[in-house]
Amino acid sequence: MRLPHFCQTIAERINTGVIVVDLSCNIVEFNRFMQVHAHKSLDEVIGKSIFSVFPELPVRWFERKLSSVAALNSPSFCSWEQRHHLFELPHHRPITTDSHFMAQNCTFIPVEESGEVAHVCILIEDTTDVAHYQGKLNHALEELAKANRIDGLTQVFNRKHWEECLDKEFSRARRYDHDLSLIMFDLDHFKRLNDNFGHQCGDAVLIETATCVKELLRLCDLFGRYGGEEFAVILPETEVSGALDVAERIRAELEKHVFTFQGQTHAVTTSVGVSSIQVTDMRYEDLIASADSALYKAKENGRNQVQQYCQHKAEKNVVTS
Ligand code: GH3
Ligand code: MG
Ligand code: MG
Repeated sequence: MRLPHFCQTIAERINTGVIVVDLSCNIVEFNRFMQVHAHKSLDEVIGKSIFSVFPELPVRWFERKLSSVAALNSPSFCSWEQRHHLFELPHHRPITTDSHFMAQNCTFIPVEESGEVAHVCILIEDTTDVAHYQGKLNHALEELAKANRIDGLTQVFNRKHWEECLDKEFSRARRYDHDLSLIMFDLDHFKRLNDNFGHQCGDAVLIETATCVKELLRLCDLFGRYGGEEFAVILPETEVSGALDVAERIRAELEKHVFTFQGQTHAVTTSVGVSSIQVTDMRYEDLIASADSALYKAKENGRNQVQQYCQHKAEKNVVTS
C-alpha cells in the first residue's frame, strides 16, 4: 500500500512519526521523521517485520493492540504516561531527562480499504519536553507537600501535620476503644542556652534533640515539633505504662547526651508530660491539654522529670526526678 501523493507529501513533512503496517506487522510506510530519528533508510524497513526493525517492541502487547484496532475498526491511544516510549528513538534535547529515549504518545489508527481493515497506521508524537517538565513539576509538588508536613529545622513533623495525625489517631482510638498516649517534652532553661551561647547553638541542640529522640521511637510513633523547643510524640496502641517508659527513656537519653557545638559541649535536660486517652476526652485537644498540664507540673516540680496527667489533681504521679 502506498499513500496517495498528497498524503505522502504531508506524511513526509510533519513533525510526527508515521508507520503503516499490515496485519502481519510488516512495514509498508515509514515517513521521514521515522527515518531520521530511527537512523534507518526506507530500504532497511519496507516489507520487514516491525519486530525485526524495532526488536525492543513488546511483541504480545503490540500484536494484541493491532488486532483489536483492526477488529473493532477503532483507533487506540497509548500515552507516554502509561508507557514512556514504544520505539527506542534517541532524542536530541539539550536538556537532561530521565531517559535516553524520546517520550512518545502513540496513536493506532485502522486504515479501511474496500470495507476491510488491512492496515494500521501508527502516529508517534514526540512528548519528551512534556515528560521532562511534568517530571520537574511532580518533583516540585513532592517537595512542596514535604515542606507542608516537615519542620524545616529539625526535620520532624511540623505542628500542623502533627495535629492532623493526632486528630486521626484520636478518632480511631475512640471509635475502636483502643489505647492512645501522648508525650510532650520541653527543653529546660533553653533561653539560657540561647542567651549564653547564641541562637545557632540553640538551633544545633534542637536538631540533635530531634535526631536522638527519633532513634528511641517505633516506626508507628508520630513525632513532631509542637513549638519552639517543645516536642510531642503520639503513641498509638500504647497505654499509660508504656508511654511512661518511653517518656523516661527520652528524658534519660537527653540528660546523658553530650551536645556539641563548635567544639564546645553542652548538657541539656528536659521536662516531660504524659497523658493517655480517657473516656471523658471528647476531642484530641483534650489529650494535648492533659499532657501539657503534666508537663507544666514537671516544670513546677523542679524540671528534668516525667509527670503523668492525673484527672484528680491530688494524685500527681512523679515517675522520676
Ligand atoms: P523552661 O525550662 O521553663 O522551659 O525555660 P525555657 O528557657 O526553656 O523556656 P522559655 O519559654 O522561657 O524559652 C524558650 C526559648 O526557646 C525562647 C526562644 O527564644 C527559644 N526558641 C524558640 N524557638 C527557637 C528556635 O527555633 N531556635 C532557637 N535557637 N531558639 C528557639
Ligand atoms: Mg523550655
Ligand atoms: Mg517552651
